[in-house]
Amino acid sequence: MRFESVNNAIEQAKVAAYALTGREEEYAGIPWFWSSQGTLKLQIAGLSAGHDRTLVRRDEPGKFSVLYYRGEDIIAADCVNTPLDFMAVKAALARRASIPFDDAAGPSNQLKSITVAPRNTEMSAP
Ligand SMILES: Cc1cc2nc3c(=O)[nH]c(=O)nc-3n(C[C@H](O)[C@H](O)[C@H](O)COP(=O)(O)OP(=O)(O)OC[C@H]3O[C@@H](n4cnc5c(N)ncnc54)[C@H](O)[C@@H]3O)c2cc1C
Repeated sequence: MRFESVNNAIEQAKVAAYALTGREEEYAGIPWFWSSQGTLKLQIAGLSAGHDRTLVRRDEPGKFSVLYYRGEDIIAADCVNTPLDFMAVKAALARRASIPFDDAAGPSNQLKSITVAPRNTEMSAP
């Protein structure tokens, strides 16, 4: 899969540099993306392909997040002017941790504080 983003370009370049210097390193980063569109800061963590339900968090105008789940697993988030949601989901994905759907539905619940321990099972491919 091709990720056309600044972060991916940086991470892939690191892996290429490691390979050139004889260090074996696989790219294992969490895909993420940002873009500023006027007053909107768009941040995306993870890959939403294969989701089977979504949750929209919105508690004030001009800010919202869409969380994507496959089964009980959060797999991605699209965040508009909600950097805390973005950081929480990105961190949870990196740790293979869960953010329970029902708890996340409360827009005033901080995702970071409701993130629960890393899952033991491997995530299935989309
Ligand atoms: C309009 C647009 C908007 C984007 N917005 C975002 C965004 O909001 N967020 C985000 O994460 N990503 C965004 N991207 C994607 C992001 O810019 C690219 O994924 C990223 O820049 C790729 O980095 P790179 O280093 O691989 O290539 P590049 O950034 O394209 O760098 C390649 C460099 O190599 C140079 N070069 C090419 N050929 C040669 C040569 N023969 N000799 C010497 N130098 C050469 C080029 O001049 C260039 O400077 C956007 C892309 C576009 C086109």
